[in-house]
Amino acid sequence: MNEQPDVVVVGAGPAGLAAAATLGRHGADVLVVDEQQRPGGQIYRQPPAGFTRPGRQAKAGRALLAEAESTPNVRWLPDSTAWGVFGTRAGLDDYAGPAPGPGRIRVGVHTPDGGRVLEPSALVLTAGAYDLPVPFPGWTLPGVLTAGGVQTFVKAQGLLPGHRFVLAGGHPLLLVVAAQLVDAGARVVEVAFSQHPRVLLPGPRDLLAAFGSAGKLAEGAAALRTLRRARVPIRFGTVIRSAHGDDALDSVNMSRVDSGGVLMPGTERIVGCDVLALGYGFVPSTELARQAGCAVDWRPGEGGWVVAHDAWMRTSVPGVSVAGELTGVAGAEQAEVEGRLAAYGTLQALGLLDADRASALARPVRRVLARRRRFAAAVLSRFAPAPATLGALVTDETVLCRCEEVRAGDIRQALAEHPHLGTANAVKLVTRAGMGLCQGRSCAPAVCGLIAAQTGRTPEQVGTFTAQPPVKPVPLDALAAAERHA
Ligand SMILES: Cc1cc2nc3c(=O)[nH]c(=O)nc-3n(C[C@H](O)[C@H](O)[C@H](O)COP(=O)(O)OP(=O)(O)OC[C@H]3O[C@@H](n4cnc5c(N)ncnc54)[C@H](O)[C@@H]3O)c2cc1C
Repeated sequence: MNEQPDVVVVGAGPAGLAAAATLGRHGADVLVVDEQQRPGGQIYRQPPAGFTRPGRQAKAGRALLAEAESTPNVRWLPDSTAWGVFGTRAGLDDYAGPAPGPGRIRVGVHTPDGGRVLEPSALVLTAGAYDLPVPFPGWTLPGVLTAGGVQTFVKAQGLLPGHRFVLAGGHPLLLVVAAQLVDAGARVVEVAFSQHPRVLLPGPRDLLAAFGSAGKLAEGAAALRTLRRARVPIRFGTVIRSAHGDDALDSVNMSRVDSGGVLMPGTERIVGCDVLALGYGFVPSTELARQAGCAVDWRPGEGGWVVAHDAWMRTSVPGVSVAGELTGVAGAEQAEVEGRLAAYGTLQALGLLDADRASALARPVRRVLARRRRFAAAVLSRFAPAPATLGALVTDETVLCRCEEVRAGDIRQALAEHPHLGTANAVKLVTRAGMGLCQGRSCAPAVCGLIAAQTGRTPEQVGTFTAQPPVKPVPLDALAAAERHA
């Protein structure tokens, strides 16, 4: 195997595992980079070695993990962060950018042994998604977490980050996480959905969409049974208005919303809890793809900005493919089949698979993909957060950018003082929102939504923050390695 791989896959979730296994089986040298210690991604997250009781989801991923781990030609770089993609269009050292093309891709990686620069012929980005952050008064208090974050405590470490849990938001993940908490011995005080119950009533098209996705429906039904047995109340048409506590969360103020998502006066109630887990949906991790120069599309029903691709999952940048949640949030099963398609496309580009054979192999995969897409679209259209609700929760005092401590009022004031401001990047330059350690991951949706609401511009006109390297915090040593390599 060459020291530099043919293909770098960033992300070892369902999409990355399927891509790596398929690429390796057809003779490509593959290096999988993932910041977790063990492969599996979010849903198939494996507990640390030595933990003896993996959960149901960890077990569900074992077949795919075994397939990838037993495939020849697949190497692993765990505990390693890909922090930048260069050479495709723009980078630290070639901002004007030579013509893009395979062979020019460089990926900056921070590993436990220091910084490295990988130079593959092709790159498959499968970096997944993260929880959609939703600001409201008190959301920065210790004890206010995302549902995915709470789940990570339970799945990765077998830990409960508190005693009394309220789960709120609008995504079906809330049911799964609540059931996992109950199974782990937690007290779940309440699960609150912002939607009204009639959103759950299936229509004929939904029944068609459910065909072939029995596994997901069974997972939801099992979670509901667990919650019913534990007598956990599940409320609809209910949102968190504010979180309270001196040094840490001790209660939340909940309120009812009408069927249009508008807060109903006089319906507030205080609920005691020390953890609030929020699950409003997911945002695709498009940072590395955007840094590479890949075109993106605005698809609010699929998480916001998603990476544009063709039928072989190839992006607008030669040599760079995508699969999984960064093509639109749609679940693990779709991620896996997209990973296989991305591999077939990449194998053709590398000359390891001819077009006829690739088309024949892809045919059954495309049929599964069509079914998964129908199911994902039916679920997502029901559980999309209502903009009316989310926008109404923020006051002028609410911090939107936690890294730089920029409040909603600061952004409103900047827009009022500088009427020409209208894009995310312009507002970032004036207010510093999005300039901190997280590079805007936790504030971009709220800041961009506020700019659009305030200026009357469309989300496409507002855009999002430029994805600057490093996309995640890494030591200076990682950047120095890239400098030495240049
Ligand atoms: C927190 C969370 C919890 C979820 N829980 C559930 C659930 O209970 N049930 C369910 O059905 N769905 C769940 N989902 C959705 C589900 O995980 C996804 O649909 C599925 O995992 C998508 O697969 P993927 O391969 O696209 O991405 P992921 O599984 O998210 O895998 C992406 C991988 O990329 C790695 N990565 C990202 N950026 C970098 C980088 N810069 N450098 C190196 N590695 C990187 C991550 O560590 C991760 O391992 C959850 C999603 C999230 C975000």
